[in-house]
Amino acid sequence: MNLPVSILDTPIEYVKGIGPAKGETFRKELSIHTVQDLLYCFPFRYIDRTKFHLIKDVGTDSDLVQLKGILLSLEKIKTKNNRFYVKGVLKDASGFMELVWFQGASWIEKTVRTGEEYIVFGRVSMFNGMKSMPHPEMELLSEAAVTVSRTFDPVYPSTEKMDAKGLDSRGRRKILKQLLSTLRTPDLPETLPAYVTDKLKICSRFESMQWIHFPSNEEEKTLATNRIKFEEFFYVQVRLLLSKAYRRFKYRSAPFEIIGPAFNEFYHHRLPFALTNAQKKVIREIRSDLGRHIQMNRLLQGDVGSGKTIVALLAMLMAIDNGYQACLMAPTEILAQQHYESITTLLGNMDIRVAFLSGSVKGRKRSEVLEGLKDGSVHIAVGTHALIEENVAFRKLGLSIVDEQHRFGVAQRASLWKKNDEFVPHVLVMTATPIPRTLAMTLYGDLEVSVIDELPPGRKEIKTIHKYETARPELIQFMHTEIAKGRQIYVVYPLIEESEKLDLKNLQDGYERLLQYFPPPQYGISVVHGRMKAADKDLEMQRFITGKTHIMVATTVIEVGVNVPNASVMVIENTERFGLSQLHQLRGRVGRGADQSYCILMTDFKISKEGRERIATMVRTTNGFEIAEADLRLRGPGDIQGTQQSGLLDFKLLNIGTDTAIMDAARNIAIRITENDPNLDKEIHQCIKTQVAKLRHKHKDWGRVS
Ligand code: ADP
Ligand code: MG
Repeated sequence: MNLPVSILDTPIEYVKGIGPAKGETFRKELSIHTVQDLLYCFPFRYIDRTKFHLIKDVGTDSDLVQLKGILLSLEKIKTKNNRFYVKGVLKDASGFMELVWFQGASWIEKTVRTGEEYIVFGRVSMFNGMKSMPHPEMELLSEAAVTVSRTFDPVYPSTEKMDAKGLDSRGRRKILKQLLSTLRTPDLPETLPAYVTDKLKICSRFESMQWIHFPSNEEEKTLATNRIKFEEFFYVQVRLLLSKAYRRFKYRSAPFEIIGPAFNEFYHHRLPFALTNAQKKVIREIRSDLGRHIQMNRLLQGDVGSGKTIVALLAMLMAIDNGYQACLMAPTEILAQQHYESITTLLGNMDIRVAFLSGSVKGRKRSEVLEGLKDGSVHIAVGTHALIEENVAFRKLGLSIVDEQHRFGVAQRASLWKKNDEFVPHVLVMTATPIPRTLAMTLYGDLEVSVIDELPPGRKEIKTIHKYETARPELIQFMHTEIAKGRQIYVVYPLIEESEKLDLKNLQDGYERLLQYFPPPQYGISVVHGRMKAADKDLEMQRFITGKTHIMVATTVIEVGVNVPNASVMVIENTERFGLSQLHQLRGRVGRGADQSYCILMTDFKISKEGRERIATMVRTTNGFEIAEADLRLRGPGDIQGTQQSGLLDFKLLNIGTDTAIMDAARNIAIRITENDPNLDKEIHQCIKTQVAKLRHKHKDWGRVS
């Protein structure tokens, strides 16, 4: 027989109180195979048995509560169908509550005594207009201290089958209590160096396991929780930083040592505007990266309109001055085309050859571009992912820039590098979707991050106003005023697939209502939604873009790609149904011209608490990062774009929306350790090395990321 190396690896069925049948249930139902798995399946909440609630305070929200009071009376009552139940009345300082037993009436009568003070425990419900607790656990206060210690009872994730096998929370508590009592400190080897746990006052791994399951007070619960959260994030960071270190060791990029004629000509003579300080700062960061042999891997975040394109162009000019080619890749044909146009316009008659490549570039044109890339006569290639196809070869690609990174997978990012065999190109990833700092740390912990946190001057802050349905006449009046000034207006309706018919009807009704207030031929209204034929959609859009119509009624199809500087009002209907990032994107459609712009959030009176917070956030700020942070806090990371990949966000306890302090601490320590001891050779870091190896084994896919 193979003896397990450590108790933690012991198969679940050998744990006292489990056995083969229950072991099988653990494996099948919760994928718990070993002692380690069992210990790391944490309670998702606790029942606080350290506190006594007052009757007046307990709700009927089906939570288990503990109360203390005198049992005033107890009576046996006969029901219509000749059965008995027992009803008691409990009194505490705040009021009265019924206790009821539908079964075991005679036993209750025998064991429970009126006039005594009891601790009762159970769920409260309303019965005949009175608070009532069916089948409470009863305990004489005078005896309680001796029989049980008041603790937090852990509640575990379970399933019907688990419950049927007695492996509900109650059963699990017994098993875990017994298991934990047999474990000794060496059974749970430390995974963090002592100098870290000492400095940050982190409890030991042994303590964390005891306390996460059976804390005897708030402090133990917090200590255990914090330690486990810290460890979860610390190891994600160590792993990302080690892979970054490895990449630095394995790959070399060309250092762009000189700032030459292309850059200088553009920077000194052709900048169409003064750069913002944020742009300058980011350009300095990029320049310092590009000057080195180490490959740049930088994420550039900046809200829509913050001016990322010119930054990208300046970086590309640095490549060209050093004899290298550069490419700029966008996720869609339209965006790529826009980039191509901006860049050729910005460069004007400078002696730089820019080529466009996408799936739609075919035949002679395509071979010409491919030829130019290969012989190096094309300096800058702008395009879609067609640029990274196998048959596209560059002569000397020194810099790859990717716009809107979240739509590119990690694999695609990596494949940017295979285009050049001598050196790998430097990589700059640009995104307009603000990613909260904590999320960026997790997903892009191996990238350097630059942020353009300032918009070009002269833009007027968009005024955002929340209005209820009752203010509609006022809204119509306002729309008339703006149109009279020559402005155009978007009116956006939500549309989700599940209620598509209803949503479209809403939009249709809204459109017809607007027609009454803005009748043709004096006024024009465009309608655009996802169910229309592409050609009709384009036509309607075009009518709005060219100013033939004053109002565009639309679903969220206008989120991307539309640029109408004359449109200065965004009316959002049923605002409460939109997510924060969507609202932010929509608002970004206005405020593009010189006029004061407005975003009007229409809602019903009935809004959920979360909806209210979303609206408050939108009214409070136009800062994309602040909005993204709020979004993360309100929704959790699960729904945020691009986060489904790679198990990086697979935290059991850590909440990346709220545990910022822990994440900062863990990341800083991980940085220090991996910088000072990149191979984890030091004696004090052996515990980390061991743990990294274990985790790598567990998450085989980790190796593939970046
Ligand atoms: P994004 O970050 O969304 O890609 P762009 O690069 O497209 O933003 O820039 C948005 C607009 O702002 C463009 O019209 C651009 O010419 C202009 N712009 C960029 N930087 C500045 C600046 N420093 N001063 C004035 N206008 C700027
Ligand atoms: Mg852009």
